[in-house]
Amino acid sequence: MAGLNEKADLIVTGRRLVTPEGVRAGRVVIGGGRILAVGDAPVPADAGVPVVDAGDDYVLPGLIDSHVHFRTPGLTHKEDWAHGGRAAVAGGVTTVMDMPNTVPPTFTEQDVLDKAAMVDGQSLVDFRFHIGVDPQRPQELKHLDPAIATSAKIFMAGHHTAPAVLNDPDALATAFEAAAASGTRLVLHAEDGRLFDLLDGWWGEPDGYRDYEARRPRSGGITAVAAVIELVRRYGTAAHILHLSSAEEADLVCAAAAAGLPVTFEVTGHHLSFTDHDTCRTGARTRLSPAIRGRRDQDRLWEAVRHDQVATLGSDHAPHTVAEKTRSVAQSPPGLPGVQELAVAVWTGMRRRFPGEPADDAVRRLVRHLGSGPADLFGLTGKGRLAVGADADLVFFAPEQTWMLSAAQVRSKCGWSAYEGWTMGGRVRRTYRRGALVWDAETEVFGAPDGRWVR
Ligand SMILES: [Zn+2]
Repeated sequence: MAGLNEKADLIVTGRRLVTPEGVRAGRVVIGGGRILAVGDAPVPADAGVPVVDAGDDYVLPGLIDSHVHFRTPGLTHKEDWAHGGRAAVAGGVTTVMDMPNTVPPTFTEQDVLDKAAMVDGQSLVDFRFHIGVDPQRPQELKHLDPAIATSAKIFMAGHHTAPAVLNDPDALATAFEAAAASGTRLVLHAEDGRLFDLLDGWWGEPDGYRDYEARRPRSGGITAVAAVIELVRRYGTAAHILHLSSAEEADLVCAAAAAGLPVTFEVTGHHLSFTDHDTCRTGARTRLSPAIRGRRDQDRLWEAVRHDQVATLGSDHAPHTVAEKTRSVAQSPPGLPGVQELAVAVWTGMRRRFPGEPADDAVRRLVRHLGSGPADLFGLTGKGRLAVGADADLVFFAPEQTWMLSAAQVRSKCGWSAYEGWTMGGRVRRTYRRGALVWDAETEVFGAPDGRWVR
């Protein structure tokens, strides 16, 4: 196979390389942080190139989590890039896209540049930023420089750590029109905050977590998704709807996409992993926005994964401290840590839900939704594929290794996980980012925090 004109510095061999063409035995030749060859490439003649054998582990491309909140700046008591990066690589994630609802929020190009400067030297993973849409200045999107950001986040409903809500119909129309003009992809929290405000005014404070779920009903999501589809139809704006939570929303977006509209959606690990029945036991841990819904919705979201209707899987990694989560029901902020758990939780769920499916097919789907899918959607060049010329981001994944997740293994600064006590069926054993070993589960040693901005 043709290699790039560069000297090899590492060779990974294995029986199960997960390439875009399929799962195969062979070797990955790495040099200068990039993949020089994949497959039956001869071992370079120059002596001294270290060879690492992945054995029976799947060798995946480094995974992409296009939805994390690493809380920098302003909320670093919950999470920071040092901890978030460690959680990511321990979960097989080598590239993250960070959300703008920090303090202050990331609304301007200068804010993005400032954030990049703060992250420099702190992150184990490569990164990109979603810029935030300032509700006061949605027209600014028209001039957004794609070298700074190619995607912009809109919160149509707010909560404790998402105070900048854009749900005025005229302002939303302005944002969609401006985003279409600059070719910016909108990423949306599509729930109608105005409906929730009405319900809160009528019902008053919620008494329990089951009660809370009822205050954020599916109707809020369905009406907002319908509004987004109408705006996409009117302006042609590319829109990616985040953390879809109900069956009806999935049907609406699938129908709109089938009709040719540029609208896609994300499903989170927690909406696949939990239902409202779990809320009785997990309480604050699965107080989420959008809320965790019922079994029928969970089944529909899994169907979207199985049939490749989702464009991306995301963690919506949104840590809060235990003290914050255990305030009163009304004051407990929604969100959970998830970047470390995402791939293993989805893999575990896939294998249990669809036990008859060949593991090679399942692992290719995992890589589509957490690799090539987000790479293509957001233009993350060099990411998400085990292919010649790509960044040498590699994950050794033991698909049958069973283990139990405990709080001691949680790398997020918040120190807890909604998955504590879960028996996982699959483990990330090693993670390489641009050819450098950044996580080894055996030694529990991390690499150097020299992650780069993927521009
Ligand atoms: Zn989020």
